[in-house]
Amino acid sequence: MAKKTARSQLRRNCGAMAAHMMLLEKYPSFRANQMRLEGATARRRELKYDAKTAKLITIKTIVHVLYKTEDQNISDAQIKSQIAILNKDFRAKNPDKSKVPAPFKGLVADSRIEFSLARVTRTQTTVASFSHDDGMKKASTGGIAPITPKTHLNVWVCVLGGGLLGYAQFPGGPQGTDGVVINYQAFGSSGTAVAPFNKGRTATHEVGHYLNLRHIWGDTPDCSGSDLVADTPNCAGPNFGTPTFPVITCGNGPNGDMFVNYMDYTDDAAMFMLTTQQVVRMRTTLDTTRKGLA
Ligand SMILES: [Zn+2]
Repeated sequence: MAKKTARSQLRRNCGAMAAHMMLLEKYPSFRANQMRLEGATARRRELKYDAKTAKLITIKTIVHVLYKTEDQNISDAQIKSQIAILNKDFRAKNPDKSKVPAPFKGLVADSRIEFSLARVTRTQTTVASFSHDDGMKKASTGGIAPITPKTHLNVWVCVLGGGLLGYAQFPGGPQGTDGVVINYQAFGSSGTAVAPFNKGRTATHEVGHYLNLRHIWGDTPDCSGSDLVADTPNCAGPNFGTPTFPVITCGNGPNGDMFVNYMDYTDDAAMFMLTTQQVVRMRTTLDTTRKGLA
């Protein structure tokens, strides 16, 4: 069976919350750091923070390519395609934002966050497939340690097993594992990227977590969870594939779930936006817990 056919049947699967729960158990200070950041975010919200006047921030980015076989050693061009996508998506300059349903259009926000490629490392590994246990972030487990994670976003690109497209570490966690991880078949828009995850939105989603965004359904299997953001409608669970507007859950009609948000589980071709309140969360993170990046 062709690998491409198998993957195209997959649904988005992100390991950020699973990794987060493991780290919270291991590092009690992580929970305290997260609570402090939540408090700062709430205060920022009350001040009616206006991201439109916020200073432009460029996050210096280091990409670590881990490969066992030569085809996993992705090209510089593929890495650059991903940086270009991050720059479009976080500045709301992505042309496909025209597909945002009319009731949500007024909520599309420019975060005034950009990314520059500072460095690429390439490491051959004997590991055939990594998981969300951070093995790719240590030389002793076939990976490579992050470089200056206080001042640089570290991105590992490698083989991830179990249908995992990527995962990220939330702000306030241990430095030695800080950054985001992306499956080499869901990174950038060329080379080894495979549909329906070949438009670079896995990295957009994971960098969202890295800057403290939650999944829009709040990670509960019902309507009780929250993404701690007021301008994304409450919704029941993840949306997959390319849904048709509207998808109504949790009494959120007539407009329903904001499945076009980068923090849902839809395909790359069906997610186009961040909201104003999501931008407030990210900007607060960059002014506090992750101020070294800015
Ligand atoms: Zn996620």
